[in-house]
Amino acid sequence: MFVKRESTKLGIYIHFPFCIQKCYYCDFYSLPINQNANDVLDLFVKRIQEELKFRYKEFQNFSEVNTIYFGGGTASFLSAKHLKKILSEIQNYFKLCKNCEITLEGNPEHLYSTEYLLSLKEVHINRISLGFQTSQFKFLETMNRYYQRKHYEKVLSNISQTFENWNIDLIYGFPDQKLQDFWDDLRYCLSFQPKHISCYSLTLERNTLYFKKVKEKSLKEPNYKLQEIIFQKLPNYLKKFGFYPYEVSNYSQKKFYCRHNLRYWLYEPYLGLGPSAHSFNGMYRFQNPKNWQKWIQNFSNHSTKSDPLKEIPITLFRLKIPINHQWIRETLKESSEFVFEFFLKMEKKGFGKNIQKNNYFIWNQKGISMLDTLILEFYNDLDSILKSKINKTSS
Ligand code: SF4
Repeated sequence: MFVKRESTKLGIYIHFPFCIQKCYYCDFYSLPINQNANDVLDLFVKRIQEELKFRYKEFQNFSEVNTIYFGGGTASFLSAKHLKKILSEIQNYFKLCKNCEITLEGNPEHLYSTEYLLSLKEVHINRISLGFQTSQFKFLETMNRYYQRKHYEKVLSNISQTFENWNIDLIYGFPDQKLQDFWDDLRYCLSFQPKHISCYSLTLERNTLYFKKVKEKSLKEPNYKLQEIIFQKLPNYLKKFGFYPYEVSNYSQKKFYCRHNLRYWLYEPYLGLGPSAHSFNGMYRFQNPKNWQKWIQNFSNHSTKSDPLKEIPITLFRLKIPINHQWIRETLKESSEFVFEFFLKMEKKGFGKNIQKNNYFIWNQKGISMLDTLILEFYNDLDSILKSKINKTSS
């Protein structure tokens, strides 16, 4: 898979902070909203337009936008009219690249409708990301995820008939889930021929209702044993269907990787709009308040200087595709050597291959399975080097 790092082009992320109800496991910033809350939607669009004007000065060096992502929450609450308004406002500030990837993330309660899907196409949305999670309703119920059977039954066929480029999000490792349940789910989804699959293991995040319920013993922990088995088997299984694993949890058919999400892992700039959204202009990171009311009243200008050496392990290291040495050099300049030494060490320990001739490093499955531990090892090495530097200067 050939990927080019494009640090001179910009991506834009728009966070829509509402859902019908809160899934217990959800760690994203989202609030419950009534299906017909038109005033709130109009207010959201107006504030996004104002925020764009406010943030533009930090991003005016980027003349072209190559990805736009409407996420959330449930961004499919936004009508084609709302999306059109936001997209035209973006074009008042930036030029869109010819093949700009424009994704709308949403849920079955909206995306089952062919009429809605066609209206999205009319306003140039060219990629759909569906939060499907599982077709087995008992797991959705356990996790308080909103669903209507009739929408779940229609959504996959309607999306596949309307869009070429679309993703399906799946979750595995629900309490009491069996291996067969997951394979049945996956086979069902594959029969609709998505071009991209994001497969996440159910996680128990602090500050979620799921965490609270597990503590109170009213719900069980995720099925970690099952997660381990699926995590090991999934890449080979999906390869048979033409899916290439390009990130720990993301698989795509040739050329259908998510260019927008790749930008986070490739350390490329992006402008984030909406409550809780982050931005990165290549030097500084900005974060909006995780609070609808605060965001309505004020946009925060708080920024922190980015530290690429500390951020590279949680971005680039997550990639399963070859990690190009040139990307490291462009980002880290003189500190790149430290990362190259780490790659050599990883190769010696049998976690990946460092191909000097082609100038890239690639993890193997053993490395990917231990990624969290290996990232920690990187930070420990970095700490010791920084400490020894301080000792040298003070002695
Ligand atoms: S629908 Fe998505 S964003 Fe909304 S609560 Fe559920 S997981 Fe969170």
